[in-house]
Amino acid sequence: TRQFFVGGNFKMNPATLEQKKGLVSLLNEAKLDPSTEVVIAPPFLYLIPLVESIRKDIKVAAQNCYLKNVGAFTGEVSPAMLHDAQVPYVILGHSERRTLFHETSELVALKTQAAIDAGLSVILCVGETLQERESNRTVEVVNEQLDAVIAVLKESDWSKVVIAYEPVWAIGTGKVATSAQAQEIHAEIRKYLTQKVSPTVADGTRIIYGGSVNAGNCKELATQPDIDGFLVGGASLKPEFVDIVNAKA
Ligand code: 13P
Repeated sequence: TRQFFVGGNFKMNPATLEQKKGLVSLLNEAKLDPSTEVVIAPPFLYLIPLVESIRKDIKVAAQNCYLKNVGAFTGEVSPAMLHDAQVPYVILGHSERRTLFHETSELVALKTQAAIDAGLSVILCVGETLQERESNRTVEVVNEQLDAVIAVLKESDWSKVVIAYEPVWAIGTGKVATSAQAQEIHAEIRKYLTQKVSPTVADGTRIIYGGSVNAGNCKELATQPDIDGFLVGGASLKPEFVDIVNAKA
């Protein structure tokens, strides 16, 4: 059985250290379902202090990394550095990185491989735009994004991957996918993993949903058989993140 997984992607928030401290104490004092794996992803700058100040049953993730471990790559942070700083997870392929920072599926795949090789686990984001959905290309687009990663990983690497299905039209818009819409694509992703990797990997890989998840809609989404958790943006900065972690409780 797949352990329920809830990630908080803080994105480029909060704006001040004071607000960050408030978030940390909120989480440190909260009652969290012990059967859920909880991971929070602050901006790079806050990773090391967060590893030190957050309760030990919450893990920390970076929101990106480079594909080389050291060298002349101004402005980048490497997977080896994250591992050395005791950061166990990295989010890769988020739609904001694909769109605003022009990351291709091939680059995301190389980063995924490099991260796993450095000892990290990866939250791999995939998802279609509104235009792609409206032209009935959702499954094709998501499968193409997965293809690049399937091409580089060994079967055993998949135990280090959590797939986040995040339809771009649902991110930060308040327009959450219905539980049926999300379940349909999660099932398609699992079917694709069965065909292209192995039934064991398909059965064992967590597929989480992201896009306007909040305290009000998480319980219904969590009842779906192929929804193994959430990647939460805006609501991860608020007290309701605790309710989302406890969606299955
Ligand atoms: P929102 O929850 O703000 O829609 O963001 C989702 C997301 O992009 C998480 O990575």
